[in-house]
Amino acid sequence: MDDVGRSPSGYNLVRLTAMRRASLARKLTPDQYRIMIDHGTERPFCGGLLHEKGNGVFACRLCGLPLFHSEAKFDSGTGWPSFYKAFDDAHIERIEDRSHGMTRTEIRCARCDSHLGHVFPDGPPPTFERHCLNGAAMEFFAEGAAIPQFEAG
Ligand SMILES: [Zn+2]
Repeated sequence: MDDVGRSPSGYNLVRLTAMRRASLARKLTPDQYRIMIDHGTERPFCGGLLHEKGNGVFACRLCGLPLFHSEAKFDSGTGWPSFYKAFDDAHIERIEDRSHGMTRTEIRCARCDSHLGHVFPDGPPPTFERHCLNGAAMEFFAEGAAIPQFEAG
């Protein structure tokens, strides 16, 4: 099989077209749409996945790309789900964000370009990174469960 457009962990990273993305976005709730498509931020301690303690994978709510594994989740005390490393670095796109008078690093889904949150350099070892997520941008799947993949085309 042709490896072009595949991540090291084997997922299709061909970028979704605007039309495909708009069609998938119809399944989002207004809150999820505001965060993922309009780059909003949920209020702390409100996201449903903050206290998710299960063993499994947190996937992009729009396209199903695995973003984080539960083994990398930690309690940052911020009120947002936090992870010290990505499921696969190729699944998370980093973009400099200069909004709100700060320079931060925004993180987006590498396949559907949805806004996920930000990454900060104050996390725990071994990466010392803190991926700060909007829970509404993700869906949790228990270990071994099939994660529906919404790919390009
Ligand atoms: Zn996605």
